[in-house]
Amino acid sequence: MKLYKQFIVSPHAHLHLSQFDPDDTAGFNKGDKTHAHLEKNIEHMSDLQYRLYAEGRRAILIILQGMDASGKDGTVRHVMTGLNPQGCRVTSFKVPSDEEARHDFLWRVHKAVPAHGEIGIFNRSQYEDVLVVRVHELAPKSIWSARYDEINTFENLLHKNGVTILKFFLHISKEEQKERLEARLKDSTRNWKISPADLKERERWGDYVKAYEAVLKKCSTPMAPWFVIPSNKKWFRNLAVSQIIVEALERMNPKFPKPAFDGFEEERRPRLEQFLIGGNGCLRVGNNLAIHRD
Ligand code: AMP
Ligand code: MG
Repeated sequence: MKLYKQFIVSPHAHLHLSQFDPDDTAGFNKGDKTHAHLEKNIEHMSDLQYRLYAEGRRAILIILQGMDASGKDGTVRHVMTGLNPQGCRVTSFKVPSDEEARHDFLWRVHKAVPAHGEIGIFNRSQYEDVLVVRVHELAPKSIWSARYDEINTFENLLHKNGVTILKFFLHISKEEQKERLEARLKDSTRNWKISPADLKERERWGDYVKAYEAVLKKCSTPMAPWFVIPSNKKWFRNLAVSQIIVEALERMNPKFPKPAFDGFEEERRPRLEQFLIGGNGCLRVGNNLAIHRD
């Protein structure tokens, strides 16, 4: 199954979001079999994370964007659930603080980029600076329109430094958003997630569509591709995102590093084994067993 190829946005594509069906499930059906597939992906992701962490030379950055209620939080909860918190960091980008607003727009983003060995997840991202900022004219056009190139240059820098970037646009319909916002209003455990601002944002749906289309066209590059994920069905969204992350990690194929002992395989491993088996099981550094790092 190659959902990676199916949902990737080609560079400079002249696309309209209306061409993408948010109800698409790529031939999958909801049910036990698909759920088992998701579970397998989560387990596989965890194994690959362990190798990425051990290798310590590359990182992966997952960016989640979408309209309000498109499922960014839900994706973090359901897909990233099997990851080891030690090698994983989620950053949510909100309205910039006073300090952030006094720096260039990438300042806060750069600080949150995963280090080698880590998986970084952005819940919203640098793209807000060409989305909400564009729709609400929070900066003049001359400023935000230069940011597409600035973002591409920034992502290229990260790529050269060993960061694999995957960007997911969680695509829902306007009708689906209405249902989800209504559900949030009715459910006392989810009231907190809705604000009057969300309802105002909904009025700007068409402007956001245009802003997203510009992002997908200008900023889907071979080194940092965008994926349009049909997200009306939460179960499919989770399956597709997890599958694409697994496919990307498999391509990276992180490797366990060689032990940091001189001549470990030929000489030291047998002696170490003998020592451990023959002794009290404690690893001691004796005269004949000097352990040092290169
Ligand atoms: P939420 O994701 O519901 O917690 O909301 C976060 C809010 O922060 C959203 O309304 C975003 O549009 C807003 N936000 C994020 N980044 C920026 C930015 N760079 N400039 C202005 N607003 C932003
Ligand atoms: Mg919100």
